[in-house]
Amino acid sequence: RKNTAGSSDQNLMVCLRIRPMNEDEINLDVPIIAHSMDGNVVILLDPLEDPDDILRANRSRERRFVFDNVFNSSCSQEEVFKLSTLPLISQVLDGYTATVFAYGATGTGKTYTMLGVNEQPGIMFKALESLFKHMRMMEDEFIYQMSLSYLEVYNEMIRDLLGSNSVYLDLREDQNGVQVAGLTEIDVNTTNEVMDLLNRGNAMRTVEATGANKHSSRSHAVLQVNVVSRPRIRNTQEQILKGKLFLIDLAGSERASNTLNRGKRLTEGAHINRSLLALGNCINALSDPNGKRYVNYRDSKLTRLLKDALGGNCRTVMIAHIGPSALHFEDSRNTLVYADRAKHI
Ligand code: ADP
Ligand code: MG
Repeated sequence: RKNTAGSSDQNLMVCLRIRPMNEDEINLDVPIIAHSMDGNVVILLDPLEDPDDILRANRSRERRFVFDNVFNSSCSQEEVFKLSTLPLISQVLDGYTATVFAYGATGTGKTYTMLGVNEQPGIMFKALESLFKHMRMMEDEFIYQMSLSYLEVYNEMIRDLLGSNSVYLDLREDQNGVQVAGLTEIDVNTTNEVMDLLNRGNAMRTVEATGANKHSSRSHAVLQVNVVSRPRIRNTQEQILKGKLFLIDLAGSERASNTLNRGKRLTEGAHINRSLLALGNCINALSDPNGKRYVNYRDSKLTRLLKDALGGNCRTVMIAHIGPSALHFEDSRNTLVYADRAKHI
């Protein structure tokens, strides 16, 4: 398995996670069309092509994509965390900014990867656990302070997931960078506190029924972890370090046109696509080795919010998600193309 996560010359890593077959897919005996190979290749079969059409079959039925890491349906939460996010932890403690995105259609496992379930906690919990562990190892030398904020971007509006969720918050830009005015920031000292806060915040996420999936989440959830470290010994050259880690569960990437709804739902879809499109454009521009391309952060709330996190010395990890079966071919293909376009050239 090639693991590029640790290399410092690469600011962007693109991973893919394939969720296991669910009960419906197993009961309906739906064919599996997404296959992983070698830890970084995925092959997607087009179920609409006629496999007996020998002339076309070999050429058009399958498409290969290569990513930094491909996590197949038996990969554990631990493995996903270790290969995607663990390499960012020491950087955050050193005062850098890093971001992990979960991208994919509704039902592909984004929330499972980021939040997880109580018995199988995801990246948000494991990252904080790992930060605490590193801090304990270094506590002879540094005094650390860690705080969390958790917000959602829904319909291009920002809501606090740890405070009053009835008001919309504004983005401000000053000499310290981009700030969300009035956002709740809570100090945390133990992993137990963290799980409680995450569950509380997640219960506040906007969840509404759509034609595509009644539990479809149409909001982007952004967990921001701030780590301030001060050297214990005064009179050194070392300064106060301020690291940030953004852990983001993006809204479902399925197209607005795929939902049966009209009106309100369609507007939401358009907003969601605007943020995801803007994000894709920003990441794509950053992955340009010449770094000459113009990055238009102002195109959406999400990219404005992440402006400081998507440039310069910042590390970015995108974990794209797909389902394994023929039921979701269109979504899987769209996600693979999006992720492929974003990846390092
Ligand atoms: P999304 O957030 O992308 O809409 P979810 O994370 O809610 O999708 O996943 C949909 C369902 O599939 C949930 O019941 C979740 O627990 C399950 N699931 C997703 N990925 C995995 C996985 N890797 N292993 C086990 N169950 C998973
Ligand atoms: Mg979700």
